[in-house]
Amino acid sequence: MQGNTDNYSANSPSSGKKKKGKIRKVLLTVLLGSLLFTGTGFAKESLHDQYHVYEGGEYIGTVKSPEVIDHAVNDKKAKAEDAHEDLELVVGRDLSVVKEKVFGSSESADEESVKKTLDQTLAVEAKSVAVQVEGKTLFHLKDPEAFNRVIRGVKLTHVTEKELADYEAARESGEFPEPEEGQTQVTHLSLKADLQAKEVYTDPENIKTEEDALELLRSGKPAEHDYTAGEGDTPEKVAKSHGMSMEQLLELNGGMGEQETLAAGETVKVIVEEPYVEVSVTRKHREASPIAHKKVMKDDETLLKGEKKIAQAGKDGKKEMTSVTETVNGKKVSEKVLEDKVVEEPVDELILKGTKAVPGVSTGKFAWPAQGGYVSSKKGPRWGRQHNGIDIARPSGKAILASDAGTVTATGPQGGYGNRVVVDHGNGYTTLYAHLQSISVKPGQKLAQGQKLGVMGNTGRSTGVHLHFEVRKNGQLINPLTVVSQ
Ligand SMILES: [Zn+2]
Repeated sequence: MQGNTDNYSANSPSSGKKKKGKIRKVLLTVLLGSLLFTGTGFAKESLHDQYHVYEGGEYIGTVKSPEVIDHAVNDKKAKAEDAHEDLELVVGRDLSVVKEKVFGSSESADEESVKKTLDQTLAVEAKSVAVQVEGKTLFHLKDPEAFNRVIRGVKLTHVTEKELADYEAARESGEFPEPEEGQTQVTHLSLKADLQAKEVYTDPENIKTEEDALELLRSGKPAEHDYTAGEGDTPEKVAKSHGMSMEQLLELNGGMGEQETLAAGETVKVIVEEPYVEVSVTRKHREASPIAHKKVMKDDETLLKGEKKIAQAGKDGKKEMTSVTETVNGKKVSEKVLEDKVVEEPVDELILKGTKAVPGVSTGKFAWPAQGGYVSSKKGPRWGRQHNGIDIARPSGKAILASDAGTVTATGPQGGYGNRVVVDHGNGYTTLYAHLQSISVKPGQKLAQGQKLGVMGNTGRSTGVHLHFEVRKNGQLINPLTVVSQ
């Protein structure tokens, strides 16, 4: 019996060609099936089987019945399955069993100790997908479907469910419809990542949830970058703005002192998180925008002053623009306008503005009451008395004009004024025009602004042809030059 364990492969009839590490549990069944055969010619009673158990090449012990091993494996698996219901588990992948036929009684079987050892050492593993970057495992997921869902989750960080569904449908059919007005169509979606997914066995505890895996892919991996210091930067500020500790920064920049200030333009090494996955999305967008219509004013002499009339209603035009935008991880990297066209011209709004003077209704503003001329005498003290208005002389024509619209309240000669006209403007103001040669209006007549009311003359107390012009506000004389100018 002694020494048999060293050359078990030679003694084992059905495992002679196999290496110990490759013998799996499946093989165990095969071995059991072969138990019945007797090829040695010895009587059954004298022939005795025993099984040497190895785990990962290490000898565990020897048992008489392979059922002991089966039980140990099944027990351990049942326990593990309770804890990890959703995983596909394997137990004792490294287990190998070698059958040996011996003569005599089996005094070497140490079943209890084998059972105990197996219970402690049997590896419980789960089938999983290891997601790797540059050969380094980032995380494990339970199956390829979980990995696909995580990748879809990364895409959905940058496109909506609907966009993704439409995009996938378009790709399936090979036809990308033009976006409708106001709509967006994803025309390209790519995921750039140096990720490999590999099916491996791992400790069930290593398997991450899809949420955690997604979070990890979204956040990124730390990468070394050069940072150029700005005015007033210090190592502390740089560390803080990059979420690094001072120790990390100093270590990364060997020889940099903590108190040192940085010179503007100096390069410092920093750690920046680079996303593991780059999602590039191209969207085509069609948008209509209004073209504002213009307002055009046009004088109209058939309309009274102050009146307005819309002769033509305005209408905004319409412009359509198709643009293509590319984003990488949500950041816009390019935008191109494919088409920009006017689909509807705007229509101007035409407003007629009345220019016809309105008799009797004050415009609120005074106009020069003569045809040119100049102020030959101002209001104020003159020759020892008060001059109540202004004198206007040497006009280019002799017509005297109503300074504003209003109603004639008095006409005819009055003392030193000679022939005069008084006009009430209806807004607290009255005007008086004196020394007229002739008067062409009657009391009660409504006048428009600028309407002729008489001819300049030299009647009354006058020393030459001129207009004497007075303005009253609520009955009080005011200086006409404060409301009228030539
Ligand atoms: Zn005067």
